Amino acid sequence: MVKKYRVLFHNPITEAGDFKTGMARIGVPAATVDHMIAGAPVVLKGGMSLPEARQYADAVQEAGGRATIEADGFMEDPAHPDHSSEMASIATYQDFTMCPMCGFKQQRGPRCIKCGLAFR
Ligand SMILES: [Zn+2]
Repeated sequence: MVKKYRVLFHNPITEAGDFKTGMARIGVPAATVDHMIAGAPVVLKGGMSLPEARQYADAVQEAGGRATIEADGFMEDPAHPDHSSEMASIATYQDFTMCPMCGFKQQRGPRCIKCGLAFR
């Protein structure tokens, strides 16, 4: 089994305005950045290989945010048996969402990664 990793956002390491500008450059709207900052630490994306997670975290750090990578041990999703998921575009940040049940901010997916609520 291939080990998966996830990227967490912790806090901006630049002025909030500069961070928003940096994130806008990689396709993240300011409103999403507000949610990220308000909900930090938040999981930006999970289920990635280590090189993917590094690239993702690097992009966030270049934009001026502190991001860390951690092992993603419990994200097996039978609906997505493909373990060799393709490189996710940084544009997928736009798919950020907040769970209506528990309020956890996360990458949009089939269900809440925290409480398991199926989205829409
Ligand atoms: Zn939830």
